[in-house]
Amino acid sequence: MGLVFQQFLEAPAVYVCSSCRAHLARASDVVSRGFQGRLGRAYLVEAVVNERLGGSEDRVLMTGLHTVCDLYCRRCDEMVGWKYIRAHDRAQQYKEGRYVLEQSQLLVVEQQTASPPNIDRVLARFMGDIGIRPDSPATAASQ
Ligand SMILES: [Zn+2]
Repeated sequence: MGLVFQQFLEAPAVYVCSSCRAHLARASDVVSRGFQGRLGRAYLVEAVVNERLGGSEDRVLMTGLHTVCDLYCRRCDEMVGWKYIRAHDRAQQYKEGRYVLEQSQLLVVEQQTASPPNIDRVLARFMGDIGIRPDSPATAASQ
């Protein structure tokens, strides 16, 4: 199979595949936490990465007929949910293009978002390393 390109999400909280820890979705992309998956509680999410879709098929779910694709983790091929391709009931059409992630297939990871380094602190440490005290103004030495 070779190398699998993996995407990493930058967000304070990320849902990852419970078997291989590949990033799957930002917690902020969750539209609803009240969904029912095949394995129990599930989330409806706006966008997913590192995914692989199975073939589309028509399935009768609790809310009627839907065309869906099974959703797999691209890294380890674990089934993690499904994607709604088409909802045949007009009231369910908000789901189209969105994904259901099975809660039991996920772990949540809190991450530190990348913030730019504090330039004053970096400079002070550098000047300290080369023997200059940053808190004494250079002009003081010339008087
Ligand atoms: Zn995985």
